[in-house]
Amino acid sequence: MEKVVIIGGNAAGLTAAARAKRIDPRLSITVLEKLPHISYSTCGIPYFLSNLVTPESLISYSPESFEKERGIKVKTQVRVESIVPSRRRVEGSRVDTGEKVSFPFDRLLVSTGVKPRLPDVPGTSLQNVFTMVNIGDAMRIREPLQTARNIVIVGAGYVGLELAECFHSLGKTVHIFEKEPQVLSSIDPDMAAIIDYELRRYGVGISVSAKLLALVGNKDRVDGVKTASGLGVMPADIVLLDTGVEPNSDLTAETDIRIGQAGGIAVNANMETTVPGIYAAGNCAETWCPIRRRPVLNFIGTVAAKQGRIAGENMAARRSRFFGAIGTTVLKVFDLNVARTGLSSREGAMERMDVVSERIEAQDRTSYYPDARKLWVKLIVERAGRKLIGAQVVGYGDASKRIDIAATAITAGMRIDELSQLDLAYSPPYSSLWDAVLVAAQAVMRKL
Ligand SMILES: Cc1cc2nc3c(=O)[nH]c(=O)nc-3n(C[C@H](O)[C@H](O)[C@H](O)COP(=O)(O)OP(=O)(O)OC[C@H]3O[C@@H](n4cnc5c(N)ncnc54)[C@H](O)[C@@H]3O)c2cc1C
Repeated sequence: MEKVVIIGGNAAGLTAAARAKRIDPRLSITVLEKLPHISYSTCGIPYFLSNLVTPESLISYSPESFEKERGIKVKTQVRVESIVPSRRRVEGSRVDTGEKVSFPFDRLLVSTGVKPRLPDVPGTSLQNVFTMVNIGDAMRIREPLQTARNIVIVGAGYVGLELAECFHSLGKTVHIFEKEPQVLSSIDPDMAAIIDYELRRYGVGISVSAKLLALVGNKDRVDGVKTASGLGVMPADIVLLDTGVEPNSDLTAETDIRIGQAGGIAVNANMETTVPGIYAAGNCAETWCPIRRRPVLNFIGTVAAKQGRIAGENMAARRSRFFGAIGTTVLKVFDLNVARTGLSSREGAMERMDVVSERIEAQDRTSYYPDARKLWVKLIVERAGRKLIGAQVVGYGDASKRIDIAATAITAGMRIDELSQLDLAYSPPYSSLWDAVLVAAQAVMRKL
């Protein structure tokens, strides 16, 4: 019986395991996970910490139920420490007992996610300083969160912003320090300004262009954050570091598994690494970007699951290709819906593309209909080919519908002229006669 070993028991790893088993039930599949849990929704952490959802609802399968329903072996609390391709084995130890373990494989999947990147300042190892990449982090912050009054978030990426709302909903005083001149640097500054306004409207403090100097503590516990912003030491009972993540590719050291130009595990379209029979999927692997036509890093769950599915199919000997991803995300920041896809204006410029963009303000439905809500839509077009390469939607109406239209248009290689006439559904409760995306397309065409 062919042996498949999967390192990492979440989005990419479990999707791969389930898919491979479904295609070839004869495979003997073992998932190795260092945490006590598998199959947890990292994306749901902000809502779990806000007490909107229960801890149980974040976990789809226990190791036992996954084993039973899928016929896949799951070993939790097993940390893989090395991959030995020449002997077709992985080696590691049990987190709880320290016992050494080793698993042979015919095919292997590395789906180990990301690891946090810490800022290079004193104090990051003080108590009550947290990062947030998995359910273990969420469990650890829960208790100190009960009594904390002042929380500082360093970094205004999407995790920082989601958690700012979460902590605010729990009655905490929240301040965000961001080193860039704007929040959420994956979108353009004029769109980020709307989020900045929303955060301040809810009383979240924000310092942009902030230089972090140190996390300061009383004995071993953090009690403030020192920056060069002239604010002195900002009091903090908890500090959340959202200062970036990087692919967790440590296990590839001392193997021929290559790390790519973007910094993740290099894979081909079948999600196979440079060592035949060893695959990588999810946030530890690189992702093909069809707009830039090169691999990039992509730290989102939707892409991890798709890559896992393709890896699973190929490990079960079906030839499937992953077509890539363009960075489509959506998040909620208080009453705002924030979505982006493709390249931002800055990213377009970094690729030396001649881009034209326009932002429009519109309503999400016919303005006379009750509860019509404001939306800002920005489209980014490559001048020569007139192709849509990026879109951002921020507003109080449905941003995700508009961004999904734009993501589809970009993926299909649609010209802005075609997008401006796209046959979209209309009735007053859902849209305007000319949907906001169509209005934005017409607006950007006037500049071409
Ligand atoms: C707060 C938060 C909110 C998010 N919200 C969204 C969202 O709304 N939408 C979205 O698309 N994405 C979201 N994401 C991102 C999404 O959760 C990740 O992209 C996704 O979980 C990545 O899946 P993965 O399988 O690659 O890695 P992970 O889900 O991180 O799984 C990797 C697993 O590997 C295990 N592991 C690592 N090393 C070893 C080892 N040596 N031995 C054994 N096991 C190991 C880890 O413990 C982990 O369980 C969010 C992330 C966070 C932190």
